[in-house]
Amino acid sequence: MKYISTRGNFRAVEAAEAIRTGMVPTGGLFVPEEIPVLSLTGIREMADKKYQEVALQVLEKFLTDYSREELIDSIQAAYDSRKFPVEDVVPVVGLTENLYLMELWHGPTAAFKDMALQLMPRLMMRAIKKAELRKDIVILVATSGDTGSAALEGFKNLEGVKIIVFYPAEGVSKIQELQMTTIDGDNTYVVGVKGNFDDCQSAVKAIFADQDVKDLLAANGFQFSSANSINWGRLVPQIVYYFSSYANLLKKDVLTEGEKINIVVPTGNFGNILAAYYAYKMGLPVNRFICASNDNNVLADFLSTGTYDIRRDFKRTISPSMDILISSNLERFLFEITGRDADKINKWYQELKEEGVFEIDARTLADIHAIFTGGFATEEETLKTIRESFDKYQYTLDPHTAVAVNVYEKYREESNDDTVTLLASTASPFKFAETVLQALGQISAGKNGEESLQELKKISGQEIHPALRDLGDKEPVHKRVASHDRLADEILDILQIRYTL
Ligand SMILES: *Cc1c(COP(=O)(O)O)cnc(C)c1O
Repeated sequence: MKYISTRGNFRAVEAAEAIRTGMVPTGGLFVPEEIPVLSLTGIREMADKKYQEVALQVLEKFLTDYSREELIDSIQAAYDSRKFPVEDVVPVVGLTENLYLMELWHGPTAAFKDMALQLMPRLMMRAIKKAELRKDIVILVATSGDTGSAALEGFKNLEGVKIIVFYPAEGVSKIQELQMTTIDGDNTYVVGVKGNFDDCQSAVKAIFADQDVKDLLAANGFQFSSANSINWGRLVPQIVYYFSSYANLLKKDVLTEGEKINIVVPTGNFGNILAAYYAYKMGLPVNRFICASNDNNVLADFLSTGTYDIRRDFKRTISPSMDILISSNLERFLFEITGRDADKINKWYQELKEEGVFEIDARTLADIHAIFTGGFATEEETLKTIRESFDKYQYTLDPHTAVAVNVYEKYREESNDDTVTLLASTASPFKFAETVLQALGQISAGKNGEESLQELKKISGQEIHPALRDLGDKEPVHKRVASHDRLADEILDILQIRYTL
């Protein structure tokens, strides 16, 4: 299986090269040349398989230049029962007769990014070995919170790689920040950036495109790569749980073979919902995708009007991992839904870059409307949904998952669509304990992170997520702060590269 560029501007590469390089060097994103198909019988058979076996079945379709052994080793190490100490990696929990939550947050950092970032670094290490590179890889990550700690956990202490994480200094929760700044590992670096996530992401993108910096690195034995959700190695592990969860519902007799489901995903960079869309293209029976945004509702507007317009204020919300104006993975979705029209993608993304807005044609919009609905939840609605779900179902939602539940409830009300629905639950409520306590009327002002965790434990009757226990006792070891136009200097300093301009 080869990978091509969404902008038709690069040669076809093997999966290992796509994973090693992250994004297409000439701009654009790598996508599989064709999408493999799984039969309904194949999907039914997953009901009797372990998560790791389903993962192998999906991965070997896409990563054909990896040996079966390489894939098995990577999968076993990633989804080990010490890292995901629950039955079958991704539990599926019924909230109502129609609504099922996929709990994607039982990994080492308590959010769904672990699903991809426990596996992807191992795929990347093997890709580097295959290429016999004699350079050390430098992973640059721009994070709105959850990616940072998950990437640090995934890459720490891996040989031949250094990981540098940039996060908006004022755009992440206390707990998220502590998870990053207290991380161990001899190859991990964390930098707080003055500005919001988009500033941070744009600055990192600019470095990836800066030939002078890249030359300087190359001369010193380093090469950049990315672990952001534009990397194909991030996406492919996310396809797995849509199949495993569907099979799980077959096993529970909630679904019959071939029955279509709705899928609801709280969305930021469009990675998770894109993985669901690939699963659909591979044969997963889906009736409708519901893309849920918070007050940064660029996507919700786009999905209803066909105009993608980022000329608006960036808002900081209580679901910070979805505070994004440019959803990078949307480009891959548009590539697929236009029947792989690289000319259109080039045109739209040129307009976005130059004017901050693009408008798709009516035909494409109609194709999107046939299968996608967008919606958003305000801050008030999100808090209310946390409170109501707690009262009605005795289930404690984190703010991101609550956005999705709220958008789903409004969709259901308007459409009367009672299709069985799978909703991506993307973080443990403990990761956002302060917001959850606020929603439940237990104002936590003045409490530190640890006290909030204890309080939420008492109220919810649940154990604190293992990733968050004892966090308050740790001292931050990473204290770097930089302005967003000085990130290249920061990187050179970290790598101890001396230079004169
Ligand atoms: C990253 C993240 C999201 C958004 O996922 P995308 O793949 O970026 O759309 C939602 N919820 C949580 C908790 C996250 O960490």
